[in-house]
Amino acid sequence: MKLKKSLGQNFLKDIFYLDKIITSSQINKTKNVVEIGPGDGALTELILQNSNHLKAFELDNRFCEFLKKKYISSNFQVFNKNFLDIDLGDIAINENIIMGNLPYNVSSQIIIKIIESNLSYQHCIFLIQKELANRFIKSSKSSKLSIQSQLFCDVEPLFDIPPEAFDPAPKVNSTVIKITPHSQYKKYIPSYSNFKKVLTICFANPRKKISTALKNLNVGSSKFSFDLNSRAEELEINDYFEILMQYESQI
Ligand code: SAM
Repeated sequence: MKLKKSLGQNFLKDIFYLDKIITSSQINKTKNVVEIGPGDGALTELILQNSNHLKAFELDNRFCEFLKKKYISSNFQVFNKNFLDIDLGDIAINENIIMGNLPYNVSSQIIIKIIESNLSYQHCIFLIQKELANRFIKSSKSSKLSIQSQLFCDVEPLFDIPPEAFDPAPKVNSTVIKITPHSQYKKYIPSYSNFKKVLTICFANPRKKISTALKNLNVGSSKFSFDLNSRAEELEINDYFEILMQYESQI
């Protein structure tokens, strides 16, 4: 089958890493799993052997038909759907582990769609481009994605996978991440759209002092506990909550 680059079809072939993903996913015969982008089914097969039920979403109908024929089982369903278009209500409350070797071009959209939804899930295990993983993971340098995701969940790196483990080999390194939802900041969730606006303006010019962004948000003369000479990447989530509160008090 001719692979489609546009759909990020780099298939993981190395059994060492496939097994490592399954072990780190903590799936077992009581777990119901959702897989995004099963492709030719390398992970799918291992998930099926180790879980109670698997529901998969695959955009390429050729692989969808292939998987339907290969795994005729009452504990497997595959849908020919774009994950970005599905209603997350199609994922039942007891489908609690979400996994996938994500297509690189839409990984961040898929992750944001899940974390900002009110879907109830135990955790996600995703294989994504290393550079993108670094933008999601909380570190000493904040990014818009790391702050946005901290509102809903913890994102931790588990291990890296080299290009040679895939066929065809991608040009970039990959990282497996674990996403675990939390409710630590739930009081800020109703302000999520303003929070995103604040982050967009603060990270628009990450090299400039934060005071410039504060002026653009019309909160330049408000009092803040952080140093106004800081750059966006030096501030932490609580600093952004302070900015959010000031921003909301004047709109
Ligand atoms: N799971 C396989 C593996 O680990 O080898 C394939 C992973 S491959 C990186 C990504 C898969 O996602 C491809 O099979 C591709 O067709 C599918 N895909 C791409 N965009 C998608 C989307 N928006 N929704 C669902 N599946 C998608």
